Amino acid sequence: MLELSATIHAQIVAHCLGGLPEEACGLLSGQLGGETVEGCYPARNAAASAKLYTVDPTDFVRADRHAQSHGLEIIGVFHSHTHTDAYPSPTDIAQAPDPAWHYVIVSLRQAEPSVRSYRIVEGTVTEEPVVQAADTGAEGRPQAAGPPGGRSGGAGR
Ligand SMILES: [Zn+2]
Repeated sequence: MLELSATIHAQIVAHCLGGLPEEACGLLSGQLGGETVEGCYPARNAAASAKLYTVDPTDFVRADRHAQSHGLEIIGVFHSHTHTDAYPSPTDIAQAPDPAWHYVIVSLRQAEPSVRSYRIVEGTVTEEPVVQAADTGAEGRPQAAGPPGGRSGGAGR
């Protein structure tokens, strides 16, 4: 199971829509081993591709540091599928780095984005339910400035 507040759900979907026509990606933080997402870190797709994603390493380090400074860990990653269903591609499965993570995929194939979550352990994909958590307002916005850099390669924010 993965619990997302309405705020975080909206942040994820907005970042995915903003990344079109390429795939967009970002990281999710929470308690180690937890199922509730406490923070959302939109990241650049270093692959700059419509078919695959690589979380920008600098954005990864920044998100990881921010989460740890709040007593949290990175517990998952999200990315968009621009023209396919919200199911992990063979590349997604091969590149899934951590069996403890939640792999959230947002399909933009239909007019209404669909958000689903999976565990990927040694190549085996298991879908888990996504449930809406109460919006406590406590999670705020880890990166007040939103997606860093934008499309034009501004790395020095
Ligand atoms: Zn994918």
